Parts: sequence; C-alpha cells; structure tokens
Amino acid sequence: MPARRAIDHAAARQTLGDLHDAYQWAIYAHTLADRTNHPAERLDAAAMLAPLAVLTGHADQAVTAYRDLVDLATAELGHSHERTLYARAGMAEAHHRVGRCEKAIRDLADVYTTATQRHGPEAPVSLKTLTQLACLYRDCGWRDVAHRCLTVATTIATRYLPRGDPHRARITDIVATPASENHRAVCTQATPSWPALTGLPTVRTI
Ligand SMILES: [Zn+2]
Repeated sequence: MPARRAIDHAAARQTLGDLHDAYQWAIYAHTLADRTNHPAERLDAAAMLAPLAVLTGHADQAVTAYRDLVDLATAELGHSHERTLYARAGMAEAHHRVGRCEKAIRDLADVYTTATQRHGPEAPVSLKTLTQLACLYRDCGWRDVAHRCLTVATTIATRYLPRGDPHRARITDIVATPASENHRAVCTQATPSWPALTGLPTVRTI
C-alpha cells in the first residue's frame, strides 16, 4: 500500500473518532513513508502520527514522533517555518507530559521568540505558542507567570484580531480553564505552588 493511502486511512479513522485505529494506521503510514523516502509523505505521516500518539496516551512515543517531525520539518521547510514551529511546540508539550518541565518550558519559550521575530506577535503561531506556554506554566503551578502570558496574549488578540476570531475565543477558554491535575503526578518543577484541588472553596484565577 502506498504511504499516502495509509495516511488518508489514518485521517479518516481520526475523523470518525476511532483514535486507536487511527494511531495504528499512522504507525503503518510512517513505516511505509520511511521506506519510500518521499519527503512530503514522510512529513505528512509524521504530522499524522505525533498528535495521535498524544491523543491515545502514548506519551513516550509522542516525544519520539515529535522529534522525528521536527527533524523532517526543519530539513524540508526550515527552522522558522510555521509548520516547524508548530511541530517544535508539540514536542515541547510532549516533553512536558512526561515530566521534563524545565526543558519543555525553555524550548517552548524559544519557539515563541522565533515565532514573534519571524512572523510577528499577532500571527496565529505566535499567539498559539504563547497560550501553550501559559498552559505549561499553569500546570506546573506557576500561576503568576501563566497569568502574565495570558494577559499579553489577550492584549495582542484584542488589538489585532477581529471580534469572533477563533484565536480570541481560544484564549478566553484557556483563561477560564484550571490547571491540569494529571500533571501533578509527573511534574518536576522545584517549587510549584499548586492550585487548590477540585471541590475546595478556593477561587482559581487561572
Ligand atoms: Zn511541571
């Protein structure tokens, strides 16, 4: 089977909500694409596999898949292409998910800097990266820093994006979302200030 057909199968399964089947198809597509050595197919197969590894709970495989995706995107499109920056942001999140918090935050901050310098602070990739950074800080217990990131993102979005733009709604959603309690089990930050557990009568601001 050609790699492209396997990629399409994976995408169709994902659309239907069958993530585990989609993940298996994506692994197959990735193997086929590696054999063909066709750059566009290898990139698309890796771009299909990495997020599916996350969605199906394969946290370690997600790190490997994102590393592969970043390498391919960098080689094909360059260090600061939007697709490469999204891939690097995904890899940072994958590291964060397995408790490599300091590296994840450092890498994502670097992606944000590159995104703003290359594409401008109002570009979707810059705003998305900034809000992702806020989420990593928030989940590690750094509520003040997370809040500052979200304030900057809100200011930029209000100034540059039209009312009704999905990125504005996304920022509003993140502001209203509490820290992930799942992250506590893997977090390696030295001095986290955890938000209150669900059910306790403490107001969470982030
Ligand atoms: Zn953490």
